Amino acid sequence: MERRQTIEVRVGNIGIGGSNPVRVQTMTNTDTNDIEGSVEQIKRCVAAGAEIIRLTTQGEREVNSVAEIKRRLAADGIAVPLVADVHFSSSVALKAACVVDKVRINPGNFIKPIKKDFTTDYTDEEFEQERLVLRERFVEFLDVCKKHRTAVRIGVNHGSLGERMMNRYGDTPMGMAESCLELLRMCRQENFDQIVISLKASNTVLMIEAVKLLVEKMDAEDFHFPLHLGVTEAGCDEDGRIKSAVGIGSLLAVGIGDTIRVSLSEPPEAEIPVAFGILQSTRSRITKTEYISCPSCGRTLFDLQTAVRRVRERTSHLVGLKIAVMGCIVNGPGEMADADYGYVGAGKGKISLYKGKTCVERNIPEDEAVDKLLALIDRYEKHS
Ligand code: SF4
Repeated sequence: MERRQTIEVRVGNIGIGGSNPVRVQTMTNTDTNDIEGSVEQIKRCVAAGAEIIRLTTQGEREVNSVAEIKRRLAADGIAVPLVADVHFSSSVALKAACVVDKVRINPGNFIKPIKKDFTTDYTDEEFEQERLVLRERFVEFLDVCKKHRTAVRIGVNHGSLGERMMNRYGDTPMGMAESCLELLRMCRQENFDQIVISLKASNTVLMIEAVKLLVEKMDAEDFHFPLHLGVTEAGCDEDGRIKSAVGIGSLLAVGIGDTIRVSLSEPPEAEIPVAFGILQSTRSRITKTEYISCPSCGRTLFDLQTAVRRVRERTSHLVGLKIAVMGCIVNGPGEMADADYGYVGAGKGKISLYKGKTCVERNIPEDEAVDKLLALIDRYEKHS
């Protein structure tokens, strides 16, 4: 799988896109004005592995709070980039751009519609008139971002498309893509390229379709901005994790995506392991040992579930290795795919060990097999 080529966008001390790893981010759910609470939550997220933190920034008071949060984190040696999430106020976006590393704006509510009567469709003149007002405010914002080296996320949400786009394209992937492209063309005219894009929806299929459509359209216009992926309002527990894995994972699997956020109705730090799990499963970013194990069946003649747990316990520090635990030698070796090492059932209570596709030790008693697997890995990995 080849990752879609993008330019690098600098957000504080890290890069998104280009040759950078796919970044993991989250968003606080504290009141941004609760400085103490927000700082503590950010520290928990950073400890869990979050690389970028977004905070809701409704008004000037929140802009000041984010600035104070940044100061306190810096005083404690934490330089994690902070992003202001701004809706319904281009003037707040302007102020936030002076203090944070990135500002997320929503094209659907960056300006108020100038058309007052929505009982009729937008005429071409009304459509263009509103575009010019949007342009004026947006260029003003970009100028501040240029001055302060602040990056921008153009974050389109299916649930909050602007009236103008909704009227012309409907509540569709096309509407989402066009809403974003319009601002990208303005960025090009203004020579501003520090932009990350997201098109999110709670409907996973629609979100995937919208992002793919946007990528196609961006390619056609020679835009190479990094993409932020996420499924909004994914829920919690197993459902939220599955939805996020399907939405984000499907795109990563075809090389699309430069930063991700798993949105769960849980503490934000709980999102981070899920994000890294999705990255690992799509082989987008390797941060742990990968295990391949079969479900076992009537051919399995040893306690596979206990063996899987024991192998995991002993090898979880071997980041990047792929280790298989398979129930039988009939299908196991063929089905353990590209595993680096294999622990394969060979008969009643007996295990064979594999290095890649080659069997290197046969018929070891089950209670010695995990130690022997470790010794085998040690032997090869130390000398590789
Ligand atoms: S690898 Fe062997 S034991 Fe495991 S599920 Fe397949 S056939 Fe059954």
